[in-house]
This record gives sequence, C-alpha cells and structure tokens, in this order.
Amino acid sequence: MGEIRKAGLLREKTRQIKPSAPAGRLDLGAGALIPLTMVQDTSDTLTDTHNRTVRYLRLSITDRCNLRCLYCRGGKDFFPMAHENVLRYEELARLIRVAASLHIDKVRLTGGEPLTRRGFFDFLDMARAAAPLASFRLTTNGVLLPGLARRLDASGIAGINISLDTLRPEKYREITGHDGFAAVRRGIDEAIEAGLRVKINAVALRGVNEDDLPGFIELARRLPLDVRLIEFMPVGGESAWSENLYWNAGDILARANQLAELVPDAERAQCAGPAKMWRIAGGAGRFGLITALSGHFCDACNRLRVTSDGRLRTCLFSDKEYRLAGVLRNAKLSDGHLRRIIALASKNKPLGHDLLLARQARSVCLKRMSAIGG
Ligand code: SAM
Repeated sequence: MGEIRKAGLLREKTRQIKPSAPAGRLDLGAGALIPLTMVQDTSDTLTDTHNRTVRYLRLSITDRCNLRCLYCRGGKDFFPMAHENVLRYEELARLIRVAASLHIDKVRLTGGEPLTRRGFFDFLDMARAAAPLASFRLTTNGVLLPGLARRLDASGIAGINISLDTLRPEKYREITGHDGFAAVRRGIDEAIEAGLRVKINAVALRGVNEDDLPGFIELARRLPLDVRLIEFMPVGGESAWSENLYWNAGDILARANQLAELVPDAERAQCAGPAKMWRIAGGAGRFGLITALSGHFCDACNRLRVTSDGRLRTCLFSDKEYRLAGVLRNAKLSDGHLRRIIALASKNKPLGHDLLLARQARSVCLKRMSAIGG
C-alpha cells in the first residue's frame, strides 16, 4: 500500500482524466502512474482496516438536478460536469458488475436527480442484468415520479427514497426553488400503490421545517412508509450549514415524543440502515432519525460512493477520491484492475466521525452533495 500511496493513487486533488498511460503503467490522475503489476485481480470481499465489510454501492448517475435545495446547493450558481466526463450507462453497468463480483449486494442509484437522465429505464435493465442478485434502490426528489412507480416496480427496484423536506407547498418552493410539491405528493401515493417500499427523507432545518414535524408524524401514522429526518450535515464547500439551521436529533425526538407514542422498532437494524426507527402506536408506518452529526454510525458503515464522473469516495466526510473513469476508459485495463483498485480503496475507508471532529463545524468535504449523491 505504501508504494501505491507514494505513486499518488491516494491523492485528494483531482485533475482531468488521461485516457492512456505509457505501456505497463496505469494513470489514476493527479500525475499518478502506477505499474500495472501492482494492480492485480482480486475476488475478495471488501473489508477495511476497521473490520468493516463493504456491501453497498451508491452510484450517482448524474450531477444534474431539477431542484435547487437550499441545503444542497445553497442557491449558488451550478456548473454541471461536461457530458463527456459523465460515465456512460455501459460504464456504470460495468462498474456495477465488478462491484457485484466483490460481494456488493445493494446498489442505490442517486444523483443529482437520477430520473432526469435520459434513458434511465434502459439503464436500469442493464444495471439489473449486470448484478442479478443485488438489491437495487433509488433516491429521488420525486418531482418526475408520477406515472413511473409501476414501471420502477416492474424493473426490479426494491425500494425508493423520496426527499421531501416539508408538507407545505409554499415552504417547498422556499426550500427547493420549485413548485413541485403536488407532483411529489402524488408520486408518493403512486409508489405505495405500486407496492414499492417507500422512505421519505427530510433534512431537519431549525427554523425552516420545524413546524412540519406534526405533519410528518401524521403521514407516518397514516401511510405504510418510513419518514426519516436527517440531521443537516456541513457538506460542500459552499454549504449553507450553520449552528442556527442545525436541528439536532435529540431535540427532534423530545418534540416527537410529545406528539405521538413512539415505540422503538426492534427490526431497525436489518432494514433501516443508519436510521433509528420508531413505530407510531396504532399507525401504519414508522418515524426515524438519522443522527449524522450527533450520533455517528461509522462503525456500521458499509458503503462506497461513486460520483457520476467515476470518482470513488469511501467516506461522505472525506474528499479523497479514486478516479475510476480513466481505468474504465482504458482498453488495456480489465475488470481485474478495477476490482483491485476498489479493494485497495475500501481497505483504507476512514472513520468519517474523526474527520468531522477534526474539521469542527466547517464543511467536512468540499464537493457538493448533488455531485456526491447523498
Ligand atoms: N435528487 C435526489 C434526491 O433529492 O433525493 C438524490 C440526491 S440528494 C443529494 C440525496 C439526499 O441527500 C437527499 O435525501 C437530500 O435530502 C440529502 N442531502 C443533501 N444535502 C444534505 C445535507 N447537507 N445534509 C443532510 N442531507 C443532505
């Protein structure tokens, strides 16, 4: 590993991907040329130095989004990636196939907004064929969801996370910059009708959507879905994060307990990921909290992220990237090379909470969430 570190594979700064390198060398960007002999095949399960096993890939299939959420882009100008840098569907499917060969069994398609990318359903078929045993999930803002739920179900999507930060149309426009509330709400109903497992994700914003808590709890009481409030994280160089906007999970729970009888859900470990979940007495769904800042879940983190231009990130709170696009686009390099690089990167997966503490309240990573994929 030391040699690879010296060769620059682990550098944080990134530059233009070079498609080719001198014979016998592999170019991973930032001037890093490593001998091909160092990148040999592996078929191992992905484990890291903290005894964690990586099983979950979150793949951003576009950095483009049809919303401008205040916590994600801070209302700043957005310059999308050049089209040629965005991984083609064939490249994404190859990555999924390689990940599956490393025992990754859960793949989440995210973005940007994944449903804005043309040919999404053709890609979904390719992705499923590339990893027939994997469970595929989708994260969407739901604006384009109406009319698609049955097709998503038929295409083998096992669950859908829908971002919805408020139940008030006016507030929705204020947070997202768009009038999409009615469409999202319709999309949620259709997704439930289609039999999809639905989770609603809301970023908890003090002074912005505090008044939505009773509505969220009522939604989870009435409908068979999970509503999860996510602590606002200082992600992105221009993040709007501030102490004033941060609404911590302890305060949310205290308020929620006044609004409903919450019963801790014993099954949460199997299906809720990092969320702490509660059943609502007499209700159909569940309420949950994702304590991204106040109670980290690094010990159980089993995920990798790949940006839409093929940068592998092993921790949400680290800007360290492993550039896979140059490998995918180099005809001399095989799936074995990709496997080995993913295994090496996974081995060095950091503990994000340490990084978070080191940065204190400042942004923990420079890249925007819309580019990373959440
Ligand atoms: N467009 C899709 C969507 O809206 O669900 C997928 C991408 S979005 C970046 C993925 C998730 O990240 C959403 O649930 C969003 O609410 C969440 N998110 C974005 N920025 C965040 C932040 N700073 N803190 C916490 N959650 C954030």
